[in-house]
Amino acid sequence: MTAYLVGAGPGDRGLLTLRAAELIAQADVILYDRLIPADALSGARDDAELVFVGKQGGGEQVPQEATNELLLRHAATGRTVVRLKGGDPFVFGRGGEEALVLREAGIPFEVVPGITAGIAATAYAGIPVTQRNVASAVAFVTGHENPDKPETQLDWPALAAFPGTLVFYMGVRALPRISAQLTAGGLSPQTPVAIVERGTMPGQRTTLATLETVAERAAERGVKAPAVTLVGDVAGLAEQLEWLEARPLHGVRIAVTRARAQASPMAARLRALGAEVVEAPAIRTRALDAELPFLAGHDLIVVSSPNGVHELFALLERSGRDARALGGHRIAAIGPGTARALREHGIVADVVPARAVAEGLVEALEDVPLSRVLVVRALEGRDVLPDALRARGCEVTILALYETIAEPLDPDTLAAAAGADWITFTSASTVRFLAEAAGGALPAGPRLASIGPATSAALREHGREPDLEAEPHTPDGLIDALVNAG
Ligand code: SAH
Repeated sequence: MTAYLVGAGPGDRGLLTLRAAELIAQADVILYDRLIPADALSGARDDAELVFVGKQGGGEQVPQEATNELLLRHAATGRTVVRLKGGDPFVFGRGGEEALVLREAGIPFEVVPGITAGIAATAYAGIPVTQRNVASAVAFVTGHENPDKPETQLDWPALAAFPGTLVFYMGVRALPRISAQLTAGGLSPQTPVAIVERGTMPGQRTTLATLETVAERAAERGVKAPAVTLVGDVAGLAEQLEWLEARPLHGVRIAVTRARAQASPMAARLRALGAEVVEAPAIRTRALDAELPFLAGHDLIVVSSPNGVHELFALLERSGRDARALGGHRIAAIGPGTARALREHGIVADVVPARAVAEGLVEALEDVPLSRVLVVRALEGRDVLPDALRARGCEVTILALYETIAEPLDPDTLAAAAGADWITFTSASTVRFLAEAAGGALPAGPRLASIGPATSAALREHGREPDLEAEPHTPDGLIDALVNAG
């Protein structure tokens, strides 16, 4: 029987400690606050009891006594109880009070520190809270004093005289008072101030000002909690050291509709560029039963997608063959991703058209003498290439190894995609199946990004003009186009 007082960090899931993740995964009961990372609970057991004890909407906070009581009640049953808090449990987290309650009840506890907003939001804004020759001390201060008490509990003259950086938590509404008191205490009105809202999260926003201007600037910009306010010369360093908000896709919400298995690398690249990614896989592929055709008679084998490569090798394996079955054949790959997938099997494609579409391959093969061609592709693949080859008198065999089908999307995912700034489409099937999932029409709000002409044509069939079309027609081309679109 142990209760754990656990810090979940400031918002970015990556700033949750290993120990916190381990305990979340073990817990029978998790009592959690509002300001924990959005997906912090995704690692909890399916049968864990998750109890929200934070502030409901803009409403009332669950009273501390009720939380204490819940903590004791659950811990007394002998179950593993995790009390999960934003940031660090002992920094303005009332973790100390909860620890005292546990001690009094004789319940053993463990404290797992978390990364507190005062160093995390500031670091993500490019502000070191201490800096050689600039600030050799830092103070964490609450900006939220008990409004019932007329007397301030803070020693404002001492804070004004503090030889270092001041970081105020919970101080958005108190900004006018903070600046007035510090100025009255003798701090220069020109002292740099930074307010970091939603620190470490996709919507992070930093407002730079001075003690004199900060209240007005904050009102102009509609600054809202959660935010930390940093007062001190180090705030000026943000201009040089800003990194998160300087990313090209910072603050841009982008939905990715491609199959889950392929979405991750694209999502990771988008996130690294600062985007907030909504993974809304509208499609998945299903392998089809197929017989391995007699390969020797073909003078070219075309593979049209990485998944085609994957399924081709699965088929070879099922047929008791291996890569040697492709030995001596001329092989063409549509798209660099397909060529890469072949290389992973030790095969370097002979032809990779510059344009990653069937039309590009038709052009690339213009001067290549061919008589029998095998095309490995999806069941629903386009007939551009087979038609063009047949028109040249080629015999074309189509080996359909998989089909693309709808991936069911839950209403929350659909709503998140509909609320994005962009939806990316990486094939005609992503267009078709997203529209189907959304009830027939594509969401009206977001701008639409298409990977290439076939996908754009599918968008037009659904009555929409793509807002951008990637060039080259690859996932990387699509990402570059999004960056350029700003
Ligand atoms: N225990 C928490 C603080 C809880 S008090 C910690 O250690 O971080 C709540 C206050 O923390 C908010 O009003 C705000 O001032 C600050 N805060 C929490 N998360 C924040 C975030 N992501 N960005 C900026 N400030 C944050």
